[in-house]
Amino acid sequence: MAHFHRLPGPIADIWAWQHRGACRDRDSGQFFHPDGERGASRGRREREAKKVCQHCPVRAQCAAYALATREPYGVWGGFTEHERLRLLREGWSVSSSGEIDIRRLEARLTTVTAQ
Ligand code: SF4
Repeated sequence: MAHFHRLPGPIADIWAWQHRGACRDRDSGQFFHPDGERGASRGRREREAKKVCQHCPVRAQCAAYALATREPYGVWGGFTEHERLRLLREGWSVSSSGEIDIRRLEARLTTVTAQ
């Protein structure tokens, strides 16, 4: 017997949040590093991208998507690829309502950094 409730929803629903992203009309180069980028210039670019994410209305959905799909590159949901790797290592979760708690994830990164 087929379990239709386990099938993903329509693709348009899965991606709909991206249409409301604060980065929508911005240069994607701000969020994804060019080949060979390192050090200070990478840090500057990531900080600027994260500033955009701070005010994004779909930040929680974006962060949840990137963590769930283990998105390997770029700044998503206000988290760099290195920060997401740390969160994946340390563990992250959604609430019972299916929401992701951005402040809790940020606090977790601070805690992990301090150790
Ligand atoms: S959280 Fe950042 S990367 Fe995600 S949609 Fe918003 S602005 Fe774009």
